[in-house]
Amino acid sequence: MCADIRKDWDTYFMDIAYMVSTRSRCPRRHVGAVLVQGKKLLGTAYNGAPMGVPDCSEAGCMISEEYELTNQDGKEVMVKKQRCVRTIHAEQNLLLFTDRADREGSSVYVTDEPCWTCANMLANSGITEIVFHRPYPKDTSKVRQMMEHKGITFRSLSGYEPPRETLMTVSD
Ligand SMILES: [Zn+2]
Ligand SMILES: [Zn+2]
Repeated sequence: MCADIRKDWDTYFMDIAYMVSTRSRCPRRHVGAVLVQGKKLLGTAYNGAPMGVPDCSEAGCMISEEYELTNQDGKEVMVKKQRCVRTIHAEQNLLLFTDRADREGSSVYVTDEPCWTCANMLANSGITEIVFHRPYPKDTSKVRQMMEHKGITFRSLSGYEPPRETLMTVSD
């Protein structure tokens, strides 16, 4: 009877990641990440400016444009990327606020597929699994390649539906 309505662990931890993401004050993207060892929640983080520093809702986003040379179908192409650099990404905050010992062999649940920089750091953080929901196509191929190389399980939760009330509501 209860089994039908009881959430599986993937849904449970991804729901928490989405809940955490509502703390973000960057209007461009709300990202939440949680550290899980076994079935135990060991840390939560969202994207935001360093503590005590004006955040995106106060000072506006700090937009940076970057060009990256990538290979598309055998051709080299310059791809323009725009992102807000005011915030520390959720995954990086998660690493700042958790202990290495806790991360060894643990999983990270993150609302969005990690960007290259975050993926790079996660790959060196001791964690052995990354579970994400929303895709980030710009970095996905090189991120996937690296995860494979590192032997880190990298999977997306398809068919997952985030709790409605956690989706992009910027509030105080
Ligand atoms: Zn921002
Ligand atoms: Zn990132």
